[in-house]
Amino acid sequence: MTLDEFMNKFSDESSCEERIIELRWPSGFCCPKCGSKNAMRIHAKHRRDAENRVPLFECRDCRRQTSITSGTIFHKTQTPLTKWFLAIYLVANDKGGIAATTLERMLGVSYPTAWLMLRKIRIAMADRNAQYRLSGIVQVDDFYLGGESKGGKRGRGTEQVPVVAGVSLKKGKPQYLFMDVVSDVGKRSVLDVLTKRIETGVILETDGWPTYASCAEELGAQSHLVTTSKDEKKNETFQWLDKAISNFKKFIDGTYHGRQTDDQLYMEEYTYRYNRRGFGHQLAERLLRACVAANLNNSMYSLKVGT
Ligand SMILES: [Zn+2]
Repeated sequence: MTLDEFMNKFSDESSCEERIIELRWPSGFCCPKCGSKNAMRIHAKHRRDAENRVPLFECRDCRRQTSITSGTIFHKTQTPLTKWFLAIYLVANDKGGIAATTLERMLGVSYPTAWLMLRKIRIAMADRNAQYRLSGIVQVDDFYLGGESKGGKRGRGTEQVPVVAGVSLKKGKPQYLFMDVVSDVGKRSVLDVLTKRIETGVILETDGWPTYASCAEELGAQSHLVTTSKDEKKNETFQWLDKAISNFKKFIDGTYHGRQTDDQLYMEEYTYRYNRRGFGHQLAERLLRACVAANLNNSMYSLKVGT
């Protein structure tokens, strides 16, 4: 969808509200408390700012009221949904990612609002990422963010953030990617990540670091292929993973100037985009769907302020 088509389609609050309802309840509203489908739509007229509020469904059986945005990233927002939808379009269609200052200018919102909108959109991406596990052949490696690594690849500079990354391959081409900040590259931390991101029974491919060998066993990997750093084919074997890692570093340096807060959320954004690189014009609609589906109440990321 072009920007023009998107803005025409979601030109006012009610068109955005209708889209949220369609995405949340594709076969009609269903009461989250009692499961009844017998509900009516109401507007909270008793509130002072009722005209700014999104509609509610009131269950005719148990009287429970449910806001159409409850639990989503749009809940209790003071920002018009049209601006939210536009932000989602812009984020989805800019490969390099959008900085809060850019969004502030383009939407005409304050910097803190733009910042929080971006953060919430990234949380929606993270929620979506968490639903997938890599399968087949999965290559895994670790790298560091922030400063040069001292004393070789797994050196531990004090200001460095260790990251475990993996990519699944199909016919030698990269498919899906994950990246996770870890507290260290010991077995417990790495295994936590791999269990969360990888199916059992995969073919694991690493550089043979002992942590990976013991993780492969615990993961129930079908086999563990090792290409050590001394192997002349090392660069060729890990080319896609190496490329993804170096592009991620450019991504945070370019748009976010290597800022170290929220490293994990930047990785979630980067991997979300990477895993959808073939979707082209469907990206905005997909991201909108992820934003409606993401439940902030269940999210591992906390949000202190509402926009
Ligand atoms: Zn009910």
